[in-house]
Amino acid sequence: AVWITDFVTAVESDRPAVVAAGAYTDRFAGQLVLVTGAGGGIGRATALAFARSGARVVAVDRDAGAAAHTAELARDAGAPAAWAETADVSDEQAMEKLAARVAAEYGVVDVLVNNAGIGLAGSFFDTTPEDWKKVLDVNLWGVIHGCRLFGRQMSERGQGGHIVNVASAAAYQPSRALAAYGASKAAVLMLSESLRAELAGRGIGVTAVCPGPVTTGITATAHFAGAGADEEERRRKRAARLYGLRNYPPEKVADAILDAVVRDRAVVPVTPEARGARLLARFLPRV
Ligand code: NAD
Repeated sequence: AVWITDFVTAVESDRPAVVAAGAYTDRFAGQLVLVTGAGGGIGRATALAFARSGARVVAVDRDAGAAAHTAELARDAGAPAAWAETADVSDEQAMEKLAARVAAEYGVVDVLVNNAGIGLAGSFFDTTPEDWKKVLDVNLWGVIHGCRLFGRQMSERGQGGHIVNVASAAAYQPSRALAAYGASKAAVLMLSESLRAELAGRGIGVTAVCPGPVTTGITATAHFAGAGADEEERRRKRAARLYGLRNYPPEKVADAILDAVVRDRAVVPVTPEARGARLLARFLPRV
């Protein structure tokens, strides 16, 4: 199995945005938004979209330099304040320390985006128990830690809030190459739905966002891409074949995340295809 790292962000898209850019100017003014995996890809795009909407932003990543750069970009984008924090979301103690530090220094988070995730592609029989553990540690346990720690703070404060968990279309669309990744994301999807039901009475919304292929790391491995001159294009096509869907740029996912918070939506497929929504409807009949 091949670890999908270096989720490179580069997609041109002529497809309409889910939400018009700038639709939520100042909508998050005065709010504190924490995004994990904010050092690149969807996480960075999301941190910047919240920054443009007036939020104070905490950019968390295991890569300190990448988080610091996002915080800098967030300030440039108009965030009244933006901070970088370094933490590995799969590390329970590191997350506990992060939650305590954030509460003490910046306050209780109004919007939490559990976005950090890693990709793994390959045959089920090439996927070792260590591979499974790693993908579940980051993709599932990372979300569990975030929801437990920051969700509890929100709940105890009693002023509502919102949690967005970034799952994937792979949560409900089977793929030969994504058993471990898909299983981790299916777990995130149901965790989100269950937590949403539990927190409904406390004014805390929970959303699972399920992007189809976004041209970042999913498409960035030799396994998917091969090597060569038109690597980027090949990555894009491979990803499209893999999911049977077309790519979306990370900014579109960011827009969909802000929209999901504003509208308090439960499960949001993010693909340019109606097919994504149809597949999801089959998986979750009530959506
Ligand atoms: P990316 O690799 O571009 O960015 C991920 C960021 O998370 C990186 O900055 C990385 O350093 C950070 N990160 C990774 N592991 C971490 C950990 N343990 N602790 C803290 N930070 C960590 O990836 P992306 O494509 O932007 O993916 C973001 C999320 O979107 C992931 O959960 C991914 O599974 C999901 N997703 C991506 C796609 C896609 O096609 N790219 C599709 C559906 C869902």
